[in-house]
Amino acid sequence: MTWPRSVVVVGASAAGLAAAEGLRRQGYDGSLTLIGEESHAPYDRPPLSKQLLAGSWEADRTALRTPEVLSGLDLELRLGSAATGLDTRAREVVLADGSRVAYEGLVIATGTRARRLPGTDGVPGVHVLRTLEDALALRAQLALAPHLVIVGGGFVGAEAAAVARGLGCEVTLVTDAPQPMSDALGSDIGAVLRQVHTEHGVKVVTGVLAERILIDGGRATGVVLSDGRTVSAGAVLVGIGAVPNTEWLAGSGIPLGNGIECDATLRAGDGVWAAGDVASWPDPLTGARTRVEHRTNAGEQGLAAARNLLAEPGAAVPFSTVPYVWSDQYDLKIQIHGRTGGADRIALVDGSLDARKFTALYGRDGHVCGAVGVNMLRPLRALRPLVADRVPWDEALAAGAVEPPHGEPIPGAIPESAIPEPTGGAR
Ligand SMILES: Cc1cc2nc3c(=O)[nH]c(=O)nc-3n(C[C@H](O)[C@H](O)[C@H](O)COP(=O)(O)OP(=O)(O)OC[C@H]3O[C@@H](n4cnc5c(N)ncnc54)[C@H](O)[C@@H]3O)c2cc1C
Repeated sequence: MTWPRSVVVVGASAAGLAAAEGLRRQGYDGSLTLIGEESHAPYDRPPLSKQLLAGSWEADRTALRTPEVLSGLDLELRLGSAATGLDTRAREVVLADGSRVAYEGLVIATGTRARRLPGTDGVPGVHVLRTLEDALALRAQLALAPHLVIVGGGFVGAEAAAVARGLGCEVTLVTDAPQPMSDALGSDIGAVLRQVHTEHGVKVVTGVLAERILIDGGRATGVVLSDGRTVSAGAVLVGIGAVPNTEWLAGSGIPLGNGIECDATLRAGDGVWAAGDVASWPDPLTGARTRVEHRTNAGEQGLAAARNLLAEPGAAVPFSTVPYVWSDQYDLKIQIHGRTGGADRIALVDGSLDARKFTALYGRDGHVCGAVGVNMLRPLRALRPLVADRVPWDEALAAGAVEPPHGEPIPGAIPESAIPEPTGGAR
């Protein structure tokens, strides 16, 4: 077997670390360099909008590995070192300090960054939530119990709203969607979430865009909405999605679109592979080019890229996954298997929306494409095979009807108005 003598991984977070570990686990004992723009050793992002923001965890608990485990990987760890260019002919990564790191194999795992509202960079009182520093800055701000206006009703916005209420802030959540998280869940389940947030004291404003942030005396003082209303704010959290970090690859010949456009095996060029939030690949399950912004996917793709990088020519395996994502809001644990965006039907399988304890199946083109559970850990797991096997819709519902979990009939399909629109790579 001919393995590359040097592998460089750019992006020292979940996907990059998984790639590095995957290489070593398969016995790769050549030179391995992990390059990260952030000064921190790899840490996890899901706790940033949950335990860390709430103050129940300190920053060190977000570390993905102990220093001992990291050093056991025998890595050259270059933190605080942004890659600024890629020379695929010379097979060199160019760093911000001008130095060049040669590779025979390269894994790109540079992830995404928070999308910002134009003109708000560095404005005091305006926050995003992507990095440890972002989370600590927002947490410090929330300790002052400001009126927090959250722009965006996706996962990050909804989770931060729940935490901020717990910390005693007045919270207004503004989204252009019909309901919070309705892009991912559809509007009926989104309506349940809205109700939960409202009961916890969040003011939810839907169907309206945040047009601009009001700045007075150099600080954010409010948000102007597209319907002319102004919501005054002590702090603003902008949670409007993420942008793939690909600019440093301009001119390298690596195919770029919505992320790095890999082939089905996550290969992006000669000796170059991509993984995690930044990678877009033709998903063999659906045939569609897909980019997934989920934590589990980052780990799986990091490992897959490592495996394929070491594979004999022609032996790389297409990457396939059933995406999984979760969200914690108040006492709700929301979990999603598969893809819910673009579903053309939804049916409740178990439990009830009123009880805020249910599972639902999402279908597209006559097949199951996703399953959602709220506070239903085990019953949801039982639906996962239906998603993985893309079971025909009628068959899936019939299977559910055979053993109604609580002896209740399956309620009718949720109306079409509730169906989510397809989303890009949203988490
Ligand atoms: C607040 C928050 C909460 C989340 N909660 C959940 C959740 O509950 N469940 C879930 O499934 N997912 C969640 N996610 C999504 C999940 O965290 C991401 O899918 C995951 O972090 C992706 O990992 P990644 O390694 O691909 O990319 P990233 O985590 O984005 O890491 C990329 C790394 O590359 C570095 N980098 C970028 N450009 C360069 C460069 N040019 N040179 C060197 N380094 C570079 C970045 O600094 C970063 O450290 C959450 C995300 C956020 C922000």
